[in-house]
Amino acid sequence: MSDKTKIGIIICDRYKLCAGGKCFRALLKKEGAFKIYKGKEVEIAGYTSCGGCPGGNIEYAPEEMIKNGATVIHFATGFIVGYPPCPYIKYFHDFIEAKYGIKVVYGTHPIPQKYYLTHEKLKTWKEPYWKEILEPTLCDEEIRKAYD
Ligand code: SF4
Repeated sequence: MSDKTKIGIIICDRYKLCAGGKCFRALLKKEGAFKIYKGKEVEIAGYTSCGGCPGGNIEYAPEEMIKNGATVIHFATGFIVGYPPCPYIKYFHDFIEAKYGIKVVYGTHPIPQKYYLTHEKLKTWKEPYWKEILEPTLCDEEIRKAYD
C-alpha cells in the first residue's frame, strides 16, 4: 500500500489568478507548511479558491477533495499574508475539521519576507491566536527572502 499523502489546497480568491508557483515550489522542496512531509511522497488532489468573501466554496470544496483521496487540506499562505489576512481563517479551519473530520493546515509556502516586514510594521499578527496560524510558514529570514 502506498504511503503517499494526498492534499487539497484552498487559496484566497484575491489571488485567484495565481498559478501556484510558490506553493508548488515549496511542495517540491518540502518548505514552509510542507515541511511536515519531509521524506514522504505528496500528491495534490485538489486546488481551488475559497470562492470570494465570505468564502462560500469552503463549505463544499473539501468534499470533492476528500473524494479524490485528500487527507489534509492546506489554506494557501495568501490567507495569512493578504492585506488584510482572511478574517475568517480560524473559523474556516475549525469548520472544515468539524464538518469533514480532516486535518487542516494553516499555510503552504513560506511567508515572503516583503509581506513579513509590512505585517510587522502593521502589527497585524500581534494577537496570541496568530502564533498557531503563523507557525507552519514563518520560517527563517533566509527562506522568507527566497520566496519574495
Ligand atoms: S479574505 Fe478569506 S473569505 Fe475573503 S477571499 Fe480571501 S480567503 Fe476568501
